[in-house]
Amino acid sequence: MKELKKQPELKDYADDIKQCVKCGTCHAYCPIFDQEKREPMVARGKVTLAQTLLNGEVEIDKRFMENISKCLLCGTCADKCPNLVPVDEIVMASRREIAKRKGLTLFGTGLSTTLKSPALMKLMLWLGKTFSWLVFRKVPEKSGLRLRFPAPYIKRDRTIPKIAPNSFRDQHPEFIPGDKDKPQVVFFTGCMVNFMYPHIGDAAIRALKFLGINIHIPKEQGCCGVPALSSGDGATVDELTRRNFNALAGIEADYIVTACASCNAGLRGNLKKTGEEGAVLAAKVIDIHRFLVDQGLGGKLAELPPAEDKVRVTYHDPCHLRNQGITREPRAILHALPAVEFVEMKNADQCCGLGGTFSVYHYGMSQKIGAKKAAAIAQTDARLVATACPGCMMQLLDSINHAGQDQQVCHVLELLASELEKLDTGK
Ligand code: SF4
Ligand code: SF4
Repeated sequence: MKELKKQPELKDYADDIKQCVKCGTCHAYCPIFDQEKREPMVARGKVTLAQTLLNGEVEIDKRFMENISKCLLCGTCADKCPNLVPVDEIVMASRREIAKRKGLTLFGTGLSTTLKSPALMKLMLWLGKTFSWLVFRKVPEKSGLRLRFPAPYIKRDRTIPKIAPNSFRDQHPEFIPGDKDKPQVVFFTGCMVNFMYPHIGDAAIRALKFLGINIHIPKEQGCCGVPALSSGDGATVDELTRRNFNALAGIEADYIVTACASCNAGLRGNLKKTGEEGAVLAAKVIDIHRFLVDQGLGGKLAELPPAEDKVRVTYHDPCHLRNQGITREPRAILHALPAVEFVEMKNADQCCGLGGTFSVYHYGMSQKIGAKKAAAIAQTDARLVATACPGCMMQLLDSINHAGQDQQVCHVLELLASELEKLDTGK
């Protein structure tokens, strides 16, 4: 098996850490600083903490670990930093350093064991699905479920998605042929589309087929590694990246398409760090909205007949797409759908408050950040809030439910697929 480079260590970021000139620009953009107004919460403070950790000048006590864990990894600070300090990367490397010296948390250990074993993940999901009636109750008149009794790491009042009866990859062949002159793509599903939201995967396939794209769905692909990155488990990230490298490297694909913003950033970022061959694969990773627009979806949608009834829809920018400048394409698709009346929400580009394992450890703060998003959604009078990341969907639904609002949450691809459906049925 091919040897791949591992995740970098904190010492590999020594020069980046020195690039922080303590200008304080990041204070205006950090959602955590906005809540707590304490220096260790903001990017500048995190870089200082990383420096002390690197220099061995600090005891890794409960308070230090808490300060490092209070970061959404949203990347807004890195995006706005005049010195291009990769703060989110530095925070992740700090978490790996802490895990190396102190070990993983109980939750981190359980998470890694599950992510590394597709069989265990399937078993747990089967148990969750089979005993769903016993463990969960439906959120009244809303989509989503809540636990019937307290459980470790999931708060009782948190809305979680229903577990799908069958995983996406189990329902689809490994190759769906398209037109000979059209690109070959791999559809990288990620865990949430595969296990929780397979209908989003179905919508992605519907859109790709509409353009005649040749689609590969390798069964051996796995988790993109983002949850393990968030919990500081470098060894698990390396193992998952190696699995994905092996699943993807043998396929002659022009692109690797993702329908999850976090998978997009995680897969690309992790492959890029493994060496030259990984970097070639990483360069092929593309968000599906950008891919569809690049392939001329807009022109085809312009041929759709006008709709009699329109639904008011707003859009939330997932951080992992916004940081790449992918903000126009999902909106372009929504604007082009005849049955959609698009309305912008205030601060659409602000983080929803999920932040991977952040929302597990700091659910209270995650809820406060989510409440601001729910209020911005309410101001639009939209019936639907669309986004491009299943993780954001879960957080938005929870925030809307807590605010007592009645908007529905969906993926942009679901709206697109439902419009394409009308073409099939002639309605
Ligand atoms: S992280 Fe960037 S924006 Fe923040 S203080 Fe340092 S140099 Fe300034
Ligand atoms: S990544 Fe986001 S939450 Fe973390 S320090 Fe930067 S702006 Fe704040």
